[in-house]
Amino acid sequence: MNIAVLSGKGGTGKTLVSVNLAAAAKESVYIDCDVEEPNGMLFFKPDQIIKEPVTVKIPEIDRKKCIGCRKCIDFCKFNALAYIRKNVLVFEELCHSCGGCIIACPQGAVNEKNKSIGEICSGISEHVKVFTGEMNIGETSGVPIIKKLLLTAGKQDTLYTFIDCPPGSACTTMESIKDADYCILVAESTLFGLHNFEMVYKLVKFFSKRCGVILNKCDENIINPVESFCKKENIEILGKIFYDRELATMNTAGLILSRTSEKYGSLFEQLLQTVVGKI
Ligand code: SF4
Ligand code: SF4
Repeated sequence: MNIAVLSGKGGTGKTLVSVNLAAAAKESVYIDCDVEEPNGMLFFKPDQIIKEPVTVKIPEIDRKKCIGCRKCIDFCKFNALAYIRKNVLVFEELCHSCGGCIIACPQGAVNEKNKSIGEICSGISEHVKVFTGEMNIGETSGVPIIKKLLLTAGKQDTLYTFIDCPPGSACTTMESIKDADYCILVAESTLFGLHNFEMVYKLVKFFSKRCGVILNKCDENIINPVESFCKKENIEILGKIFYDRELATMNTAGLILSRTSEKYGSLFEQLLQTVVGKI
């Protein structure tokens, strides 16, 4: 079963929840789809690391064949091509690798070449198979890396797969939750947290995914706007993680709470059972 963990912004506790649930599940797969800032590896510190480059196809213009008709430029909806000083220029960062300009060219002057946009990395941490993607600096879309990550990790024969999604509700998050059986939304207990939470909640509803919420950084003495919203909208609250100095210290030190602390080991096992009971 594929369980995606989402949040409206970075720093909300999405990686904390997905890493610790994967560790609590013992035999599991953890996939870090936050390809712009992957940090699941920092917690799992896996062994037997295998790295694989991720490439995309981009156009390459054969100047000898090009007659300057500009049909390729008219076709490209992403402004990745321009005709300057009698040459077709390719702005690689804007190219979406659709291949359309190759078809549009009447002269056969557009070829394809491979361009590296990042890598995927896999390894083992105790019983958890860890997969992570990393996008090269300057690239604009992590979607091809996420596609390859999910395809590679999807070949594993494991009961639980936890997908640590990118923050927010952009196309990389949509790609990450496409095949999820259940979504866990992690939300901070503030008004700003509510605003971010509403964005990802809309996304999950749009994809008709079943979901529940884990409220993070809770404080017993403060009214939680996300909790009030969830109660009003009848959204399932799976559990609460209270603000705790011990947790913050362990998390900052890159420790996995489920493996280090008895208290948090039981909390995440309980959360796992709650989630599994919903699927
Ligand atoms: S492959 Fe598609 S996106 Fe890239 S330059 Fe050609 S038409 Fe534009
Ligand atoms: S469509 Fe082909 S021939 Fe026309 S400008 Fe583009 S590359 Fe040159």
